[in-house]
Amino acid sequence: MVALSRLALNVATVREQWDLARCIEGCARHGIPGIAPWREGLAEYGLARAARHLRDAGLRVTSLCRAGMFTSGPAAIEETKRAIDEAHTIGAEFLVILAGGLPTGSKDLAAAREIAAQGLAAVVPHARAAGVKLAIEPLHPMTCADRCVISTVAQALDLAGTLGDGVGVALDVYHFWWDPAMEASIAAARGRIFGFHVCDWLVPTRDLVFDRGMMGDGIIDIPRIRALIERAGYDGMIDVEIFSARDWWVRDPDEVLTIIKQRFVSAV
Ligand code: ZN
Repeated sequence: MVALSRLALNVATVREQWDLARCIEGCARHGIPGIAPWREGLAEYGLARAARHLRDAGLRVTSLCRAGMFTSGPAAIEETKRAIDEAHTIGAEFLVILAGGLPTGSKDLAAAREIAAQGLAAVVPHARAAGVKLAIEPLHPMTCADRCVISTVAQALDLAGTLGDGVGVALDVYHFWWDPAMEASIAAARGRIFGFHVCDWLVPTRDLVFDRGMMGDGIIDIPRIRALIERAGYDGMIDVEIFSARDWWVRDPDEVLTIIKQRFVSAV
């Protein structure tokens, strides 16, 4: 059984109804010790105010979501540097990095991966200077065209390995539960696992991105994956991240947080 002291709320889970201030208050009210804000919420609330509120609430900021998207064009590098500064300001333990999908009009996947690698390399010195770790999140291959050309844990790890200290991976069960190389990749990630995201894979899945399930409602063997990740040396926070347009986003967020706490104990 996993302790509630490791629970963090990724604010996307309740984003349709709660702004960042409400998310912070909700976590405090429900005794959820960690939180992962998104940049959009920070911008809306005001960076300094958000940082103060997070600090005053005593929340542990597991990560800031998200930046990268290097394949969208050169401006992504400056944008990611701004995100690094924001992560530093709110005391986030790391910044989540997505590679980005295929550039518009391109069919050259290898070139897209190279652009992503170069983009990431270009921001690493800025991240080191700011003391912010970067976590590459591999996404399920169904998003390869439009979101992320890094599809497996092994790919993310290879890239992180070329960039040295302060670059690692964020492991989200939704994206790699299907991967036959999962066990070996997780074991190889020892020392580079910065974050762990949970939710569940529903059958059938009605939307490629916005139909994630609550832990325990789908087919991912989350406790087994958690055991693999812990065997690889990770004992940090576990973020609940559920994009669910038809179900969890339309429920009362207080009910969602209550159920998250129950499922965190029974199904993670
Ligand atoms: Zn995630």
